[in-house]
Amino acid sequence: MADVRSRNESAWLLPNDGTRTNHRLRQDMRRFADEDELDLVIVGCGAGGSVLLQRLARAGWRVAGLDAGPFWDPDADWVSDEAGSHHLYWTDPRVIAGADPVPMGSNNSGRGVGGSMIHYAGYTPRFHPSDFITRSLDGVGADWPLDYQELRPYYTEIEQELPVAGERWPWGDPHGYPHRPHPVGGNGEIFLRGARKMGITAKVGPVAIANGRFGNRPHCIYRGFCLQGCKVNAKASPLITHIPDALAHGAEVRADAMVTRVAVDERTGRATGVHYVSGGRERFQRAAMVAVAGYSIETPRLLLNSASHRFPDGLCNDFDQVGRYLMVQGAPQTAGRFDAEVRMYKAPPPEVSSEEFYETDPAKDYKRGFAIQTVSPLPITWAEHVAAQGHWGRSLREYMSDYVHWSCLGALCEFLAQPENRVTLADEKDRFGLPVARFAYSQCENDRALMRAAQGVMEDILHGAGADEVITIQRYAHLVGGARMAAGERQGVVDASCRTFAVPNLYITDGSVLPTQGSANPALTIMAVAARTADQLIAGARR
Ligand SMILES: Cc1cc2nc3c(=O)[nH]c(=O)nc-3n(C[C@H](O)[C@H](O)[C@H](O)COP(=O)(O)OP(=O)(O)OC[C@H]3O[C@@H](n4cnc5c(N)ncnc54)[C@H](O)[C@@H]3O)c2cc1C
Ligand code: SF4
Repeated sequence: MADVRSRNESAWLLPNDGTRTNHRLRQDMRRFADEDELDLVIVGCGAGGSVLLQRLARAGWRVAGLDAGPFWDPDADWVSDEAGSHHLYWTDPRVIAGADPVPMGSNNSGRGVGGSMIHYAGYTPRFHPSDFITRSLDGVGADWPLDYQELRPYYTEIEQELPVAGERWPWGDPHGYPHRPHPVGGNGEIFLRGARKMGITAKVGPVAIANGRFGNRPHCIYRGFCLQGCKVNAKASPLITHIPDALAHGAEVRADAMVTRVAVDERTGRATGVHYVSGGRERFQRAAMVAVAGYSIETPRLLLNSASHRFPDGLCNDFDQVGRYLMVQGAPQTAGRFDAEVRMYKAPPPEVSSEEFYETDPAKDYKRGFAIQTVSPLPITWAEHVAAQGHWGRSLREYMSDYVHWSCLGALCEFLAQPENRVTLADEKDRFGLPVARFAYSQCENDRALMRAAQGVMEDILHGAGADEVITIQRYAHLVGGARMAAGERQGVVDASCRTFAVPNLYITDGSVLPTQGSANPALTIMAVAARTADQLIAGARR
C-alpha cells in the first residue's frame, strides 16, 4: 500500500469528510495558456489518457488533458438511477452500417473526465499471454509487436492503483490480487452453484472495486449502481484513481474542450498542437507532442478529420490503416428464472467470472473463446432484455413484476479483427460541423459460432443451478482497435510504443491501438499499455 501511495497518491487526495470531490485541487489546478508550448497535450481523459497524464505530470512534464465532456463531480452530477444517467454516454450522432451493425450509445462509450470507465461495469481481468500471439498460435487475428511479459509489470502496478479485488486467478498467467474477493449476492451465488454442478471453474472477481477502505476511498456499499457512475467512489475510474495525482503534480485538465483536428507542420511533418472548441470558441493549443486517447470510434475519426495537404486521406492514413480492424465483443446475455428470490440488483453487477473457455479448444470447430460473467441488469435494462424476446403489454408486465426471481449471466466472445470492420467519415456533420463517424460491422462465421457456444454454456450453468426457464438476448459490448499497433506501417498505425509510424511526435494511447481483444474486458490492458508508453517517453526524455 505504501508503495502505491509513493507513485500515485490519488486515493489519499480525495476528501474524507463524506464528500467525493477535492474541489480545492481542481480550483488550484495549474492552467496553461494556448500560446504556451506544452511538452505534451492529450486528447481525452479516459482510461488511456488519464494514466499517461498522471505518469508524465509526476515526471515533471508540462502536460494538459483536453476532454470533450465535463469534469464530473459525483455528488452533484450523478444519480443512483438508470433513467437519470444518460448524460454519461457519448450520444453524439454516429452512422452504423455493415451486415451486423452495432448499436451505439450507453453500451460502448462514455464522455467526460474519466471516460467510459465512469459507467463501465468494473471487471478488470488481464489479457492472456495467448492474446498477444493469436496469429502464430491459432492462425487468426494478429500478433502484437510486444508480448505479455513486457506488459506484466504494468498490469501489477495498475491492479494496485485501482485496486482490484478477487480470488487468486488460475487462468492465463496465474496471479493474485491486492484486495481479497468481495462477498457475493444472489446472482453470484447462482453462478457459483450452477458452475459447480456443471464441473466448470468460476471465481469471484476480478473487479476494480475497493474491498475495504483505500486511502480516502470507502468500501463498496453493494447497492449495484456501478453502471450509473459510482457515487460512493468505491469503483475505480481515472476520475478518482489517476486525475487527482495528475493535478497535484501540475497537470491541467481542460474539460468541455472538443478537439477537432490535430495540426501538423506541412514542412516538417511534425505535430504542432490541437485545434479545439471550448465555450463556443475555436482555439489552438500548442504542444511539442500530441497523444490521442479518444477511444476506438473517436480516435480514428479525429485522425481522418485531420487530413491535410501532406496527409490527404487522413492523418497517418497513407496506407489506409486508420479506422480498420475495429472490434466489438459478442456479449449475449442469458437469464434464468428461479422460484426463490434472487434480487440480482442487490450487489455490484460484476461479481463472479469464468475464463475456462477462453482459449482455443482443438475439439471445437471455432478458434479462440469466450468468458462468462455475472451482469445483473437493473429494471430498465431488464425490460429491454425481455422486450427483445418479443414480450410486450401484459406479458412484459408479468416478466417485470417477476424481476426479483431472475438471475442473469453475460458472455464476452472474442470477435476476430477484420479489415472491413472499420470507421470512415459519413456525409452527416455534428454540431461542430465535423463529419460524423460511420462504423461498419459484419460478423464472420467464427464470431457466430462463439456466440452459440457461449449461449449453450450459460444455459447449462443456469439450468444446473435450478432455473426453470431461460431466455437469451444477443448483444455486443466494448470497442477496441481502429488504429492498431503493428510491426510496420502497412499493417497498422502505431508501433509497440504507441508512436504513430507517420508522425514522430504523435502518439495514440487508448483502446484503439489493441490488435486483438481476447475475451477479457479491455480497460486494465488499455491502462497498462498507456503506463508502458509513459515509461518509455520518460526514459526517452531523460536520454
Ligand atoms: C457500459 C459499459 C460497460 C463497460 N464495462 C467494462 C468492464 O467491466 N471492464 C472493462 O475493462 N471495460 C469495460 N468497458 C469498456 C471500458 O470502459 C473502455 O474500454 C475504456 O474506458 C476505453 O478506454 P479509452 O482510454 O480507450 O477511452 P475512454 O475511457 O472512453 O476515454 C475517451 C475519452 O476521450 C474523450 N474524447 C473523445 N473524443 C474527443 C475529442 N475529439 N476531443 C476531446 N475529448 C475527446 C471522451 O469524452 C472520453 O472521456 C465498459 C464500457 C461501457 C460503455
Ligand atoms: S455497488 Fe459498490 S462499486 Fe457499485 S456503485 Fe455501489 S458502491 Fe459503487
